[in-house]
Amino acid sequence: MKLKEIGEFALIERLTKKIRIDRSVIRGIGDDTAVLEYGRDKFMLFTTDLLVEDVHFKTRHATLEQLGHKALACCISDIAAMGGIPKYAAVSIALPKNLPLSFVEGIYAGIRKIADRFDVNIVGGDTSSSRKIFIDVSMVGFVKKRHLTTRDGAKNKDLIFVTGELGGSIKGKHLRFIPRIKESQYLVNNFKINSMIDLSDGLASDLGHITKQSKVGAVIYENLIPVSPNADSIENALCDGEDFELLFTLSQKEAKRLLSKIDYNKFQISLIGYITDKQSGIRLVNANGKHTILGPKGFRHF
Ligand code: ADP
Ligand code: MG
Repeated sequence: MKLKEIGEFALIERLTKKIRIDRSVIRGIGDDTAVLEYGRDKFMLFTTDLLVEDVHFKTRHATLEQLGHKALACCISDIAAMGGIPKYAAVSIALPKNLPLSFVEGIYAGIRKIADRFDVNIVGGDTSSSRKIFIDVSMVGFVKKRHLTTRDGAKNKDLIFVTGELGGSIKGKHLRFIPRIKESQYLVNNFKINSMIDLSDGLASDLGHITKQSKVGAVIYENLIPVSPNADSIENALCDGEDFELLFTLSQKEAKRLLSKIDYNKFQISLIGYITDKQSGIRLVNANGKHTILGPKGFRHF
């Protein structure tokens, strides 16, 4: 069988089925980061992200600084999704031999800038030659135990929110986005967040991770989704990847508190729907009240 016939998620499942972990691993594979035992009131968060030339970026379309920025920002975004704060990173790069020195220095200028902004210590890495550019970042962060937000905590009747605007990230945001640490910290410090994920695969797919792992369904409303000016249609907002916004759910009582308390000048959040029981799947309601079953990649009318 060829890899393209299995698909990414089934492949990971197949490869990792027989891996053994000990009791210090609170969460292994399956969430935005691993969650590891660390002292009395904190967990350690551990994540890694790989950027590959011509898959995640094209050197024609991205500045060097942006590549460095994105490599770190993806990991920081995953740590934000768990309610945590990033702390340490190791950066490994593989580069073609004929690349100018200034190119690598550019990547590192981007890395340094975002590392400084989020107080991330770069503490190591590895360097190799290769035909294409690879940038791989591993990152450690920490979260207070009571702040941990996973994909499997959504409860029936929770309300669903997203930060920012969705869709059309490919037009530039995917290289420039600011990971939502500020938003995540505000949320976990002030409210009981039942589940959270960062939007890397697209709203439809990532909401699917929450509903699958929480064993629930969801209803979202087309006209509540904050569609980015860079999106050509609602479909972009539902299916485009790399928005790196946060998708989270909380009880109606907590949601009410959030909506009355939040400073909209500081934070952009939108209520987009609610959690249902598992049987109803994920439904999208359009302006006329018509329901559509939402698959991971888009629409399936019934
Ligand atoms: P994200 O988009 O949040 O970075 P992914 O969809 O890339 O998450 O990965 C989903 C889960 O699978 C994560 O928990 C990740 O750590 C795990 N994973 C991905 N690739 C591998 C691999 N090759 N081996 C083990 N675990 C993996
Ligand atoms: Mg993620």
